[in-house]
Amino acid sequence: MLKTGFIGWRGMVGSVLMDRMKEENDFYEFEPLFFTTSQTGKKAPDIGIDTPVLQDAFDIFKLSRMDIIVTCQGSSYTEKVLPDLRKKGWNGFWIDAASKMRMDKESIIVLDPVNREVIDKAISCGIKNFIGGNCTVSLMLMAVGTLLKKGLVDWITSITYQSASGAGAKNMRELLSQMNYVGEKLKELVDDPQTPILAIDKKVTETILSPAFPVKNFPAPLAGSAIPFIDKLMDSGQTKEEWKGCAETNKILQTKNPIPIDGICVRIGAMRCHSQALTIKLNENLALDEICKMIEESNEWVKIIPNTPEDTAKYLTPAAVAGKLDIALGRIRKLNIGPKYLSAFTVGDQLLWGAAEPIRRILKIIVSNESIS
Ligand code: NAP
Repeated sequence: MLKTGFIGWRGMVGSVLMDRMKEENDFYEFEPLFFTTSQTGKKAPDIGIDTPVLQDAFDIFKLSRMDIIVTCQGSSYTEKVLPDLRKKGWNGFWIDAASKMRMDKESIIVLDPVNREVIDKAISCGIKNFIGGNCTVSLMLMAVGTLLKKGLVDWITSITYQSASGAGAKNMRELLSQMNYVGEKLKELVDDPQTPILAIDKKVTETILSPAFPVKNFPAPLAGSAIPFIDKLMDSGQTKEEWKGCAETNKILQTKNPIPIDGICVRIGAMRCHSQALTIKLNENLALDEICKMIEESNEWVKIIPNTPEDTAKYLTPAAVAGKLDIALGRIRKLNIGPKYLSAFTVGDQLLWGAAEPIRRILKIIVSNESIS
Protein backbone atom coordinates (compact mmCIF):
# COMPACT_ATOMS: atom_id res chain seq x y z
CA MET A 1 0.00 0.00 0.00
CA LEU A 2 1.20 3.49 -0.80
CA LYS A 3 2.51 5.42 2.20
CA THR A 4 0.65 8.73 2.37
CA GLY A 5 1.60 11.53 4.75
CA PHE A 6 -0.90 14.22 5.81
CA ILE A 7 0.10 17.69 6.98
CA GLY A 8 -2.37 20.45 7.88
CA TRP A 9 -5.16 17.95 8.53
CA ARG A 10 -6.52 19.82 11.60
CA GLY A 11 -6.77 23.26 9.96
CA MET A 12 -9.98 24.44 8.35
CA VAL A 13 -9.39 23.00 4.87
CA GLY A 14 -7.69 19.92 6.37
CA SER A 15 -10.64 19.13 8.66
CA VAL A 16 -13.10 19.36 5.77
CA LEU A 17 -10.77 17.06 3.82
CA MET A 18 -10.64 14.56 6.71
CA ASP A 19 -14.44 14.56 7.03
CA ARG A 20 -14.92 13.95 3.31
CA MET A 21 -12.31 11.18 3.28
CA LYS A 22 -13.99 9.45 6.23
CA GLU A 23 -17.40 9.79 4.55
CA GLU A 24 -16.05 8.18 1.38
CA ASN A 25 -13.96 5.50 3.17
CA ASP A 26 -10.84 6.74 1.38
CA PHE A 27 -8.44 5.85 4.20
CA TYR A 28 -8.59 2.13 3.41
CA GLU A 29 -6.93 2.65 0.03
CA PHE A 30 -3.43 3.55 1.30
CA GLU A 31 -1.32 3.62 4.46
CA PRO A 32 -1.84 7.00 6.18
CA LEU A 33 0.66 8.72 8.48
CA PHE A 34 -0.13 12.04 10.14
CA PHE A 35 2.37 14.86 10.65
CA THR A 36 2.19 18.12 12.62
CA THR A 37 4.18 21.33 12.89
CA SER A 38 3.28 21.76 16.57
CA GLN A 39 2.09 18.56 18.26
CA THR A 40 4.66 15.83 17.59
CA GLY A 41 4.03 12.66 19.62
CA LYS A 42 0.35 13.40 20.27
CA LYS A 43 -2.47 11.11 19.14
CA ALA A 44 -3.28 11.01 15.44
CA PRO A 45 -6.87 11.85 14.40
CA ASP A 46 -9.52 9.16 14.65
CA ILE A 47 -10.04 7.85 11.13
CA GLY A 48 -11.39 4.42 12.06
CA ILE A 49 -8.05 2.63 11.68
CA ASP A 50 -4.98 2.54 13.91
CA THR A 51 -2.19 4.93 12.97
CA PRO A 52 1.05 5.89 14.75
CA VAL A 53 1.30 9.09 16.83
CA LEU A 54 1.84 12.45 15.10
CA GLN A 55 5.17 12.82 13.34
CA ASP A 56 7.28 15.97 13.04
CA ALA A 57 6.26 17.74 9.80
CA PHE A 58 9.76 19.19 9.42
CA ASP A 59 11.51 15.81 9.59
CA ILE A 60 12.70 15.55 6.00
CA PHE A 61 13.87 11.95 6.46
CA LYS A 62 10.42 10.78 7.62
CA LEU A 63 8.67 12.79 4.95
CA SER A 64 10.93 11.34 2.28
CA ARG A 65 9.70 7.84 3.13
CA MET A 66 6.21 8.77 1.91
CA ASP A 67 5.04 7.89 -1.60
CA ILE A 68 2.52 10.73 -1.46
CA ILE A 69 2.36 13.84 0.71
CA VAL A 70 -0.92 15.74 1.10
CA THR A 71 -0.62 19.16 2.70
CA CYS A 72 -3.23 21.73 3.70
CA GLN A 73 -0.72 23.53 5.92
CA GLY A 74 -0.14 26.68 3.86
CA SER A 75 2.39 28.26 1.52
CA SER A 76 5.11 28.98 4.06
CA TYR A 77 5.27 25.28 4.98
CA THR A 78 5.47 24.31 1.30
CA GLU A 79 8.22 26.85 0.73
CA LYS A 80 10.19 25.54 3.68
CA VAL A 81 9.87 21.82 3.07
CA LEU A 82 9.32 20.97 -0.60
CA PRO A 83 12.62 22.31 -2.03
CA ASP A 84 14.58 20.40 0.66
CA LEU A 85 12.68 17.20 -0.04
CA ARG A 86 13.25 17.45 -3.79
CA LYS A 87 16.93 18.38 -3.26
CA LYS A 88 17.34 15.19 -1.26
CA GLY A 89 16.03 13.23 -4.24
CA TRP A 90 12.46 12.59 -3.08
CA ASN A 91 10.36 11.75 -6.15
CA GLY A 92 6.96 11.24 -4.54
CA PHE A 93 3.68 12.98 -5.29
CA TRP A 94 3.13 16.35 -3.61
CA ILE A 95 -0.55 17.30 -3.26
CA ASP A 96 -1.08 20.79 -1.88
CA ALA A 97 -3.99 23.14 -1.05
CA ALA A 98 -1.72 26.19 -0.76
CA SER A 99 -1.08 28.65 -3.58
CA LYS A 100 2.74 28.63 -3.44
CA MET A 101 3.33 26.08 -6.22
CA ARG A 102 0.24 26.72 -8.36
CA MET A 103 1.87 28.69 -11.16
CA ASP A 104 5.13 26.68 -11.11
CA LYS A 105 5.82 25.08 -14.48
CA GLU A 106 6.40 21.73 -12.78
CA SER A 107 2.91 21.82 -11.21
CA ILE A 108 -0.60 21.07 -12.36
CA ILE A 109 -3.65 22.81 -10.86
CA VAL A 110 -6.20 20.09 -10.20
CA LEU A 111 -9.95 20.20 -10.75
CA ASP A 112 -10.61 16.79 -12.26
CA PRO A 113 -14.26 17.21 -13.34
CA VAL A 114 -12.93 20.05 -15.52
CA ASN A 115 -9.35 19.11 -16.40
CA ARG A 116 -9.09 15.32 -15.99
CA GLU A 117 -7.33 14.98 -19.35
CA VAL A 118 -4.68 17.53 -18.28
CA ILE A 119 -4.15 15.58 -15.03
CA ASP A 120 -3.87 12.19 -16.77
CA LYS A 121 -1.37 13.55 -19.27
CA ALA A 122 0.69 15.14 -16.49
CA ILE A 123 0.81 11.89 -14.49
CA SER A 124 1.93 9.95 -17.57
CA CYS A 125 4.61 12.61 -18.24
CA GLY A 126 6.03 12.21 -14.71
CA ILE A 127 4.73 15.45 -13.16
CA LYS A 128 4.70 15.07 -9.37
CA ASN A 129 3.21 18.32 -8.00
CA PHE A 130 -0.59 18.54 -7.98
CA ILE A 131 -2.03 21.69 -6.48
CA GLY A 132 -5.59 22.73 -5.60
CA GLY A 133 -6.76 25.92 -7.31
CA ASN A 134 -8.02 29.22 -5.95
CA CYS A 135 -11.53 28.74 -4.56
CA THR A 136 -13.39 31.26 -6.75
CA VAL A 137 -11.63 29.96 -9.86
CA SER A 138 -12.49 26.33 -9.09
CA LEU A 139 -16.11 27.21 -8.28
CA MET A 140 -16.52 29.24 -11.48
CA LEU A 141 -15.08 26.43 -13.59
CA MET A 142 -17.28 23.81 -11.95
CA ALA A 143 -20.23 25.98 -13.03
CA VAL A 144 -19.35 27.14 -16.55
CA GLY A 145 -15.98 25.51 -17.36
CA THR A 146 -17.51 23.48 -20.16
CA LEU A 147 -18.28 26.64 -22.16
CA LEU A 148 -14.62 27.66 -21.96
CA LYS A 149 -13.41 24.17 -22.86
CA LYS A 150 -15.64 24.10 -25.94
CA GLY A 151 -14.14 27.39 -27.17
CA LEU A 152 -17.47 29.21 -26.82
CA VAL A 153 -16.23 32.03 -24.61
CA ASP A 154 -14.63 35.28 -25.78
CA TRP A 155 -14.21 36.75 -22.29
CA ILE A 156 -15.70 36.71 -18.78
CA THR A 157 -16.10 39.24 -16.01
CA SER A 158 -16.74 37.88 -12.56
CA ILE A 159 -17.93 40.01 -9.67
CA THR A 160 -17.50 37.91 -6.56
CA TYR A 161 -19.28 37.84 -3.21
CA GLN A 162 -16.78 35.90 -1.11
CA SER A 163 -17.43 34.40 2.29
CA ALA A 164 -15.48 34.90 5.52
CA SER A 165 -14.12 31.32 5.45
CA GLY A 166 -11.92 32.18 2.47
CA ALA A 167 -9.90 34.37 4.85
CA GLY A 168 -9.55 31.62 7.48
CA ALA A 169 -11.10 30.36 10.71
CA LYS A 170 -10.20 33.48 12.71
CA ASN A 171 -12.06 35.63 10.22
CA MET A 172 -15.16 33.45 10.44
CA ARG A 173 -15.14 33.96 14.20
CA GLU A 174 -14.58 37.68 13.76
CA LEU A 175 -17.63 37.99 11.50
CA LEU A 176 -19.75 36.27 14.17
CA SER A 177 -18.32 38.49 16.94
CA GLN A 178 -19.23 41.52 14.85
CA MET A 179 -22.78 40.24 14.31
CA ASN A 180 -23.12 39.55 18.08
CA TYR A 181 -21.77 42.97 18.93
CA VAL A 182 -24.32 44.74 16.74
CA GLY A 183 -27.09 42.47 18.07
CA GLU A 184 -26.26 43.24 21.69
CA LYS A 185 -25.86 47.00 21.19
CA LEU A 186 -29.10 47.25 19.21
CA LYS A 187 -31.25 44.82 21.18
CA GLU A 188 -33.31 47.37 23.13
CA LEU A 189 -33.93 49.61 20.15
CA VAL A 190 -34.91 46.70 17.89
CA ASP A 191 -37.16 45.07 20.51
CA ASP A 192 -39.12 48.31 20.94
CA PRO A 193 -41.59 48.50 18.01
CA GLN A 194 -41.86 52.29 18.55
CA THR A 195 -38.20 52.96 17.64
CA PRO A 196 -38.06 54.76 14.28
CA ILE A 197 -36.08 52.73 11.73
CA LEU A 198 -33.76 55.64 10.96
CA ALA A 199 -32.76 55.80 14.63
CA ILE A 200 -31.91 52.09 14.47
CA ASP A 201 -29.96 52.56 11.27
CA LYS A 202 -27.98 55.49 12.74
CA LYS A 203 -27.09 53.42 15.81
CA VAL A 204 -25.97 50.48 13.60
CA THR A 205 -23.58 52.72 11.64
CA GLU A 206 -22.23 54.31 14.84
CA THR A 207 -21.71 50.85 16.36
CA ILE A 208 -19.94 49.39 13.31
CA LEU A 209 -17.63 52.40 13.01
CA SER A 210 -16.86 52.70 16.74
CA PRO A 211 -13.29 51.93 17.89
CA ALA A 212 -14.62 49.16 20.16
CA PHE A 213 -16.05 47.18 17.22
CA PRO A 214 -14.15 43.85 16.90
CA VAL A 215 -12.03 44.31 13.75
CA LYS A 216 -8.67 42.56 14.06
CA ASN A 217 -8.40 40.20 11.11
CA PHE A 218 -10.46 41.87 8.38
CA PRO A 219 -9.21 45.24 7.10
CA ALA A 220 -12.61 46.84 7.85
CA PRO A 221 -15.94 45.93 9.50
CA LEU A 222 -17.67 43.16 7.53
CA ALA A 223 -20.99 42.63 9.39
CA GLY A 224 -23.48 45.06 7.87
CA SER A 225 -20.93 46.03 5.24
CA ALA A 226 -18.74 44.66 2.40
CA ILE A 227 -15.02 44.88 1.58
CA PRO A 228 -14.18 45.21 -2.13
CA PHE A 229 -10.49 44.27 -1.77
CA ILE A 230 -9.14 40.73 -1.23
CA ASP A 231 -5.41 39.99 -0.93
CA LYS A 232 -2.68 42.39 -2.02
CA LEU A 233 -2.53 45.08 -4.72
CA MET A 234 -0.78 44.17 -7.99
CA ASP A 235 0.91 46.61 -10.42
CA SER A 236 -2.04 46.11 -12.78
CA GLY A 237 -4.41 47.66 -10.21
CA GLN A 238 -6.03 44.25 -9.70
CA THR A 239 -5.92 42.51 -6.37
CA LYS A 240 -4.00 39.22 -6.33
CA GLU A 241 -7.37 37.43 -5.98
CA GLU A 242 -8.62 39.14 -9.16
CA TRP A 243 -5.38 38.31 -11.00
CA LYS A 244 -5.81 34.61 -10.19
CA GLY A 245 -9.11 34.51 -12.10
CA CYS A 246 -7.40 34.72 -15.47
CA ALA A 247 -4.02 33.19 -14.61
CA GLU A 248 -5.31 30.05 -12.88
CA THR A 249 -8.29 29.44 -15.18
CA ASN A 250 -6.05 29.36 -18.22
CA LYS A 251 -3.51 27.18 -16.45
CA ILE A 252 -6.19 24.71 -15.31
CA LEU A 253 -7.51 24.44 -18.87
CA GLN A 254 -4.03 24.72 -20.46
CA THR A 255 -5.51 27.06 -23.07
CA LYS A 256 -3.33 27.82 -26.12
CA ASN A 257 -4.88 31.29 -26.45
CA PRO A 258 -5.64 32.59 -22.95
CA ILE A 259 -9.27 33.59 -22.39
CA PRO A 260 -9.45 37.05 -20.76
CA ILE A 261 -11.13 36.98 -17.34
CA ASP A 262 -11.28 39.88 -14.92
CA GLY A 263 -13.59 41.43 -12.36
CA ILE A 264 -13.86 42.69 -8.81
CA CYS A 265 -13.52 40.40 -5.79
CA VAL A 266 -15.61 41.44 -2.81
CA ARG A 267 -15.74 40.02 0.72
CA ILE A 268 -19.27 39.80 2.14
CA GLY A 269 -20.71 38.49 5.40
CA ALA A 270 -21.48 34.92 4.26
CA MET A 271 -19.89 32.08 6.23
CA ARG A 272 -18.51 29.49 3.75
CA CYS A 273 -20.05 29.88 0.30
CA HIS A 274 -18.64 32.10 -2.41
CA SER A 275 -21.02 33.57 -4.99
CA GLN A 276 -20.14 35.12 -8.34
CA ALA A 277 -22.09 37.24 -10.81
CA LEU A 278 -20.76 36.34 -14.24
CA THR A 279 -21.00 38.23 -17.52
CA ILE A 280 -19.89 35.96 -20.33
CA LYS A 281 -19.28 37.22 -23.85
CA LEU A 282 -19.93 34.22 -26.08
CA ASN A 283 -18.31 33.65 -29.44
CA GLU A 284 -21.67 32.74 -30.99
CA ASN A 285 -25.33 33.44 -30.40
CA LEU A 286 -26.23 30.17 -28.66
CA ALA A 287 -29.76 29.48 -27.43
CA LEU A 288 -30.20 29.47 -23.64
CA ASP A 289 -31.57 25.90 -23.71
CA GLU A 290 -28.49 24.69 -25.53
CA ILE A 291 -26.19 26.46 -23.06
CA CYS A 292 -28.03 24.98 -20.05
CA LYS A 293 -27.93 21.49 -21.56
CA MET A 294 -24.16 21.67 -22.11
CA ILE A 295 -23.64 22.87 -18.55
CA GLU A 296 -25.90 20.22 -17.01
CA GLU A 297 -24.10 17.47 -18.91
CA SER A 298 -20.64 18.72 -17.92
CA ASN A 299 -20.58 17.32 -14.38
CA GLU A 300 -22.92 15.78 -11.82
CA TRP A 301 -22.64 18.59 -9.24
CA VAL A 302 -23.73 21.65 -11.20
CA LYS A 303 -27.44 22.38 -10.73
CA ILE A 304 -29.28 24.80 -12.98
CA ILE A 305 -31.70 26.88 -10.91
CA PRO A 306 -34.77 28.20 -12.77
CA ASN A 307 -34.86 31.99 -13.07
CA THR A 308 -37.78 32.52 -10.69
CA PRO A 309 -37.86 34.41 -7.37
CA GLU A 310 -38.96 31.25 -5.52
CA ASP A 311 -36.24 28.96 -6.91
CA THR A 312 -33.58 31.64 -6.50
CA ALA A 313 -34.50 32.20 -2.84
CA LYS A 314 -34.67 28.44 -2.16
CA TYR A 315 -31.59 27.18 -4.01
CA LEU A 316 -29.30 30.04 -5.10
CA THR A 317 -28.05 31.59 -1.86
CA PRO A 318 -24.92 30.95 0.23
CA ALA A 319 -27.08 29.68 3.12
CA ALA A 320 -28.86 27.18 0.84
CA VAL A 321 -25.64 25.76 -0.63
CA ALA A 322 -23.42 25.70 2.51
CA GLY A 323 -22.08 22.22 3.35
CA LYS A 324 -23.19 20.75 0.01
CA LEU A 325 -21.19 19.65 -3.00
CA ASP A 326 -23.78 21.24 -5.30
CA ILE A 327 -22.69 24.09 -7.54
CA ALA A 328 -25.83 26.20 -7.98
CA LEU A 329 -26.07 28.21 -11.19
CA GLY A 330 -29.05 30.46 -11.83
CA ARG A 331 -30.25 33.87 -13.04
CA ILE A 332 -29.19 32.66 -16.49
CA ARG A 333 -30.33 34.99 -19.25
CA LYS A 334 -29.09 36.98 -22.21
CA LEU A 335 -28.22 40.58 -21.32
CA ASN A 336 -29.99 43.29 -23.30
CA ILE A 337 -26.53 44.45 -24.43
CA GLY A 338 -26.69 41.83 -27.21
CA PRO A 339 -27.43 38.16 -27.95
CA LYS A 340 -23.86 37.00 -27.27
CA TYR A 341 -23.84 38.40 -23.72
CA LEU A 342 -24.81 35.86 -21.10
CA SER A 343 -25.46 36.64 -17.45
CA ALA A 344 -25.47 34.10 -14.61
CA PHE A 345 -25.06 33.85 -10.85
CA THR A 346 -23.33 30.91 -9.21
CA VAL A 347 -22.90 29.76 -5.61
CA GLY A 348 -20.56 27.04 -4.29
CA ASP A 349 -19.13 25.91 -0.96
CA GLN A 350 -15.58 27.21 -0.98
CA LEU A 351 -14.37 24.67 1.59
CA LEU A 352 -15.65 21.73 -0.51
CA TRP A 353 -15.19 22.26 -4.28
CA GLY A 354 -13.24 25.44 -3.52
CA ALA A 355 -10.59 23.67 -1.43
CA ALA A 356 -10.84 20.12 -0.03
CA GLU A 357 -12.68 18.16 -2.72
CA PRO A 358 -10.20 18.62 -5.60
CA ILE A 359 -7.43 17.55 -3.16
CA ARG A 360 -9.36 14.47 -2.03
CA ARG A 361 -10.05 13.46 -5.62
CA ILE A 362 -6.51 13.92 -6.95
CA LEU A 363 -5.27 11.71 -4.12
CA LYS A 364 -7.71 8.99 -5.22
CA ILE A 365 -6.68 9.39 -8.87
CA ILE A 366 -3.00 9.07 -8.02
CA VAL A 367 -3.55 6.11 -5.69
CA SER A 368 -5.60 4.18 -8.25
CA ASN A 369 -3.18 5.06 -11.02
CA GLU A 370 -0.15 3.95 -9.00
CA SER A 371 -1.89 0.75 -7.91
CA ILE A 372 -2.47 -0.22 -11.56
CA SER A 373 1.02 0.69 -12.81
P1 NAP B 1 -5.65 26.91 9.08
O1 NAP B 1 -7.05 26.60 9.49
O2 NAP B 1 -5.03 28.16 9.65
O3 NAP B 1 -4.73 25.65 9.52
C1 NAP B 1 -3.34 25.58 9.25
C2 NAP B 1 -2.61 24.90 10.40
O4 NAP B 1 -2.62 25.72 11.58
C3 NAP B 1 -3.17 23.61 10.92
O5 NAP B 1 -2.90 22.56 10.04
C4 NAP B 1 -2.45 23.44 12.24
O6 NAP B 1 -1.16 22.87 12.00
C5 NAP B 1 -2.25 24.88 12.70
N1 NAP B 1 -3.08 25.23 13.85
C6 NAP B 1 -2.66 25.98 14.89
N2 NAP B 1 -3.64 26.15 15.78
C7 NAP B 1 -4.70 25.47 15.34
C8 NAP B 1 -6.02 25.25 15.85
N3 NAP B 1 -6.43 25.76 17.00
N4 NAP B 1 -6.87 24.50 15.12
C9 NAP B 1 -6.49 23.97 13.96
N5 NAP B 1 -5.25 24.13 13.43
C10 NAP B 1 -4.36 24.89 14.11
O7 NAP B 1 -5.47 26.99 7.50
P2 NAP B 1 -6.55 26.80 6.33
O8 NAP B 1 -7.49 27.96 6.30
O9 NAP B 1 -7.11 25.44 6.42
O10 NAP B 1 -5.62 26.94 5.04
C11 NAP B 1 -4.61 26.00 4.75
C12 NAP B 1 -4.07 26.24 3.35
O11 NAP B 1 -5.10 26.02 2.40
C13 NAP B 1 -3.58 27.68 3.11
O12 NAP B 1 -2.48 27.66 2.24
C14 NAP B 1 -4.72 28.33 2.40
O13 NAP B 1 -4.31 29.39 1.58
C15 NAP B 1 -5.21 27.15 1.56
N6 NAP B 1 -6.58 27.31 1.14
C16 NAP B 1 -7.45 27.80 2.04
C17 NAP B 1 -8.75 27.96 1.67
C18 NAP B 1 -9.72 28.50 2.66
O14 NAP B 1 -10.83 28.67 2.28
N7 NAP B 1 -9.39 28.74 3.91
C19 NAP B 1 -9.17 27.59 0.39
C20 NAP B 1 -8.25 27.05 -0.51
C21 NAP B 1 -6.94 26.91 -0.10
P3 NAP B 1 -0.44 21.88 13.08
O15 NAP B 1 -1.36 20.75 13.36
O16 NAP B 1 0.79 21.48 12.34
O17 NAP B 1 -0.19 22.75 14.27
